[in-house]
Amino acid sequence: MDKQTAFRENNGQTMRYVSTRSQSSPQTFTQAVAQGLAPDGGLYLPERLPDFSDKWRGWASLNYPELCREFLLPFVGEDFSKDELDAMTRRAYARFSVPEIAPLKSLDEKTYVLELFHGPTLAFKDFALQLLGEFYEAQIKRTHEAINVLGATSGDTGSAAIHGLLGKPGVSIFILYPDGRISPLQERQMACTGAANVFPIAIEGTFDNAQDIVKELFGERAFKEDCRLSAVNSINISRILAQCVYYFWAFLRLPESPRAAVDFVVPTGNFGNILAGWLARKMGLPIRSLRIATNQNDILHRLFTTGVYEVGKVKPSLAPSMDIQVASNFERFLYFVEGCDPTRVRAVMDAFKRTGRYVFENFSADGFCASRMDDAQIPQVIQRVYQQYGYVLDPHTACAFAETFAQDAATVVLATASPAKFPETIESAIGVHPTDPSLEALKSRPLVRVRLPANASGIASYIQRHRVR
Ligand SMILES: *Cc1c(COP(=O)(O)O)cnc(C)c1O
Repeated sequence: MDKQTAFRENNGQTMRYVSTRSQSSPQTFTQAVAQGLAPDGGLYLPERLPDFSDKWRGWASLNYPELCREFLLPFVGEDFSKDELDAMTRRAYARFSVPEIAPLKSLDEKTYVLELFHGPTLAFKDFALQLLGEFYEAQIKRTHEAINVLGATSGDTGSAAIHGLLGKPGVSIFILYPDGRISPLQERQMACTGAANVFPIAIEGTFDNAQDIVKELFGERAFKEDCRLSAVNSINISRILAQCVYYFWAFLRLPESPRAAVDFVVPTGNFGNILAGWLARKMGLPIRSLRIATNQNDILHRLFTTGVYEVGKVKPSLAPSMDIQVASNFERFLYFVEGCDPTRVRAVMDAFKRTGRYVFENFSADGFCASRMDDAQIPQVIQRVYQQYGYVLDPHTACAFAETFAQDAATVVLATASPAKFPETIESAIGVHPTDPSLEALKSRPLVRVRLPANASGIASYIQRHRVR
C-alpha cells in the first residue's frame, strides 16, 4: 500500500492535526488553529486528507458559505457542529461586496479569472482571515480566555487579519510590517481602522526580518504562553483549508468542456494559496496542473525548475505581497514529498537553515510547474491584457500572465488583489486610475501606528505593555 492510500484511509474518526516535524501529540482543529505554529517549530497538517472525488459534483448548487461549510465539516472534527459551522461561514462571507463572493470571469473561451478580491481588504487573504476571525471568537467564548494575535505581513495579510478581528472582544492584534515597503493604501488599511484592539508596528527592516522576529517570539515558550500568543500569518492551517474552498468553487463554475483539462495559475509568495489548490487536487478535484507564478523574488521558480532551494536577497518589486525569499508553507509540501516522514523534513529544514541552500535529488514537482516575471514585464502585461480584453489586472495577478506558457488547456488565473490597491502601477501602465470606495474613505482618517527597530526583545516588551489580558 502506498503512502497516499494510507493517508486517505482511516475515515470516520475525528480529525487530528500533526506537525510536519514530529509525530507526537496530534492536536484537534481548534488547538491547531489557536497555536498556529507547532511547538516543535513545524507546521500543522491534517493527519489524513478526505477524498472528495465522489462528492464535489454534488456541491454545484451550494452558495459560497454553504460550500465552505461542506468542505470544512470533516476537518473540524467534533469542535463545531454543522449548524455552528454554517453560522460562522455565513458571517465570514457576509462582508464581501458581491453575492458570488468569488466571481469567475471569462476573458476568452480558454482563459478564466477567479476574482478573489471582493472582501473587506480587497485581496484574497480575506477568504481565510474573515473565517479565522470567527474561529477566534468561538474559541474565546468557549474558554473565556483572551488571545493576542501576532503576525508579520508583506502587506495584505496584516490588513486582512486586522479586518477579520477588528473590534472583537477578548483579542488584540499586533502586526509587524517592513516600514516603507508596503503600499500607502495597504498601510492605511491597517493603521486607519480606529479600533482599539489593533496595533500596527512598522519595523526598520524587510518582511523576512519581520517574519524572523515573529518566529523568534513564538519560539520563546514562556512569553508565548504568558501572552496566549496566536499566529495569523500564512502558516495557520485554517487559512490553507479556507483557501481550498474556492478551487472547488471555480471548478464547479467552469463549463463542462474546459473541465476536462484545466490548469490553475497562482501568483505565489509564501506558497499558501497555491498549496491549497494542490491539496484540493489531492482530495480529488481533477485539476490538471498548478502553475506557481512568482515575481522577481523567484526562490520557488528556481526550486521547481532546478531542484535547488536557495535563499536570495529580497528585491522589492511592483508586486510587493510576493516579495519574500523563504516560502514558509513550502515545508508542508516537503512533508508530502518526503513521504510524510518528519525526520526527513527536519533534516532538510535544518540543512536549509544552516546553509541557506538545499539541493534535492530527483525533486518531484508533483503537479506543479513554475514561471517568473520581473518588474519590467509587469506593466507590459497589464497593458497587453487591458488592450486585448479590456480587463485591468493588479500587479500580482499580472505575474500569472507569463508568455512563456503555450496555452494548450483551459486556464484559471487566481486574481489575488484588486487593481485599486495599486493605482500608481496601473496608472503608469494604462493611464487608468482604478479606485474603490472603501479605499477612498481611508484617505481622510488618521494613521495610528508605531515604528520600532527590527529587534525581538523590543517588540516583546511593546506587546507586553499593550496586550489584552
Ligand atoms: C499574499 C499575496 C500573494 C501571495 O500569496 P501566498 O499565499 O503567500 O503565496 C499574492 N498576491 C497577493 C495580492 C497577496 O496579498
